[in-house]
Amino acid sequence: MEFSQKIHSIDSFSHFPHLVHAFSPRNFVGEEGVHEELLLGRKSDPRTSQQHRQWLLENLKIDSKELFLVKQVHGDRVFVLDDPHKSVDQVEEEEADALITHLTEKPIAVLTADCVPVILYDPEKHVVGVIHAGRKGTQKRVVSKTISILSDSYGCHPGNVVMALGPAIGGCCYEVDDPCIVPFREHFQGWETFVTPHSPSRFMLDLLKANEADGMEAGISKKNIHRSGECTSCNNDRWFSYRKEGVTGRMVSLAMLREKPAGF
Ligand SMILES: [Zn+2]
Repeated sequence: MEFSQKIHSIDSFSHFPHLVHAFSPRNFVGEEGVHEELLLGRKSDPRTSQQHRQWLLENLKIDSKELFLVKQVHGDRVFVLDDPHKSVDQVEEEEADALITHLTEKPIAVLTADCVPVILYDPEKHVVGVIHAGRKGTQKRVVSKTISILSDSYGCHPGNVVMALGPAIGGCCYEVDDPCIVPFREHFQGWETFVTPHSPSRFMLDLLKANEADGMEAGISKKNIHRSGECTSCNNDRWFSYRKEGVTGRMVSLAMLREKPAGF
């Protein structure tokens, strides 16, 4: 199976030799050259999603046949995958919106359509995390919670952590009402930098900027934050957008550690 668009990645992250990361595109070229949607969320069609997940993994030259996902609940719990014997099914029962691991050859991922997918990587400790940061998770500051668990569980220094934000709905397209803004006013010092008044009691909310602010407050330096630059709603032909479409598919944002050879 070929992909009609390159599997998306972020250049600054591709420089790390022992990290695999990817943001899955909306479409691929299927049999007889027909463009088909890449369906990775299990809800609609478990057999197709299993097949499509395997194709994605093969395209990324990942040996694992399965993806480790958690049960996303728009919260701020971080699941630490530190037991190599935990099965994919066991992990998927964990209610959490972030997943971190030091284990190699275990692809971890989150599913999104507009919500911000975040990948955190500490090249010093060789530990990686993936985060589903929707509006509610962002309000609960799921990124800084994940950074504090990275520090507590693995001794990561936030100054060494690099952060990638994948395709998500941009501040250009995400209009919300006043009650949605209240928790940001309460929990973020510089909330005015990512909330723009639009019309009476309506605002444009930039979730990407909010997550960057959260990451920086937790100690990530600005130069270590990288974006894909794509708005899922503006570029709906290339990405799924829940806001724009209602019922739609989900993209996968994936990260996996490779074994570091001795001496690295
Ligand atoms: Zn947009």
